[in-house]
Amino acid sequence: MQQHLSDRINNLPTSATLAMAAKARELKNEGKDIISLSLGEPDFNTPEFIKDAAIQAINDNYNSYTPVNGYLELREAICRKFKRDNQLNYTPDQIVVSTGAKQSIANVAMVLLNPGDEVLLPAPYWVSYSAISILAEATYKEIPSTIETDFKITPEQLEAAITPKTKMIFFNSPNNPSGTVYTESEYRALAKVLEKHPTIYILSDEIYEHINYSEPTFSFAAIENMYDRTITINGVAKAFAMTGWRIGYMGGPEWIAKACTKMQGQITSGANCIAQRATITALDAPVSKIQFMVDEFYKRRDLVLDMIKGIEGLKANVPKGAFYVFPDVSYYFGKTISGTTIHNASDFSMLLLEKANVATVTGDAFGAPDCIRISYAASKENLKEAFKRISDLLNL
Ligand code: GLU
Repeated sequence: MQQHLSDRINNLPTSATLAMAAKARELKNEGKDIISLSLGEPDFNTPEFIKDAAIQAINDNYNSYTPVNGYLELREAICRKFKRDNQLNYTPDQIVVSTGAKQSIANVAMVLLNPGDEVLLPAPYWVSYSAISILAEATYKEIPSTIETDFKITPEQLEAAITPKTKMIFFNSPNNPSGTVYTESEYRALAKVLEKHPTIYILSDEIYEHINYSEPTFSFAAIENMYDRTITINGVAKAFAMTGWRIGYMGGPEWIAKACTKMQGQITSGANCIAQRATITALDAPVSKIQFMVDEFYKRRDLVLDMIKGIEGLKANVPKGAFYVFPDVSYYFGKTISGTTIHNASDFSMLLLEKANVATVTGDAFGAPDCIRISYAASKENLKEAFKRISDLLNL
């Protein structure tokens, strides 16, 4: 039978992170001993006190539709969290709770972007920013950066990238995939440029905020004259090991929150009621409750950086947050390893999967075609074994 899919879906790239995770799962199911360092997903269980809150919510018969923008008690808890951790003042009408931060981002893109608008993506960037921009019929422009500048863009680069069509810029610190964290003064220098362009909106994705090994994450909206045009995105997936619970949220100008509510009112009706109740408990807990996970990620980061040093040709920055390293693998381009000629990062990532049974994600999808992403949200044993296999393959 002929298939008549829309141009919209035909033009939409598949999520490279989820595709690699699915591939790793499929190979595991076939009996292959795959170590997956592809997906950005904490390998911890959701803390007991959050699970207890969800069980309590079920027993309390939270089973009906919630307000489209989320329970008021949850939006109030989010306002407390923003005040406590980010020095941001939002009211509950400025908050929308969604099915994961990914939906929060998609809502914002859908309600702000028109066909022909341009979105700026400091590269490397998370795979879905470009895809969501395409879905919103905008075009996107990458602002490149390299390991040498710790994957940060400069105010001069930002200025040069802006055109009259620029409508939005995505910031993400700590960054997926590079682990880069912008300091307050670096963010303020970028804001100075944006001051001159008042029609550009800023989407600040702070989902890795708590997985931070340096100074506390600085929220872009905390810059006085950026507050009115910044949308802050966050969620519980990464900090509380709650990826599958699917709760994200945005805080921003009330008119944008209203538009996002209208959008999701036609798409999901709102986020899962049990997960919303549990999220109130998660956000009201002191941040110290999740510090053990951050401490463990920090140790694994150093372990991985150490192991990378032992492998010829791999070059990495020192990530200050998130749980990824993003080494440059271009040394291997043009070389033949174990019978396979490597032309690009995708070939390299496939080589690791096929010949070392280690799943990673190619940097292409993140706008950095010389790199691959390695997630260290995996046990130390698995990380050591993965690097032993990679080293055996490459240091032949
Ligand atoms: N954000 C995570 C990652 O980058 C989860 C997968 C996804 O949604 O892309 O791996």
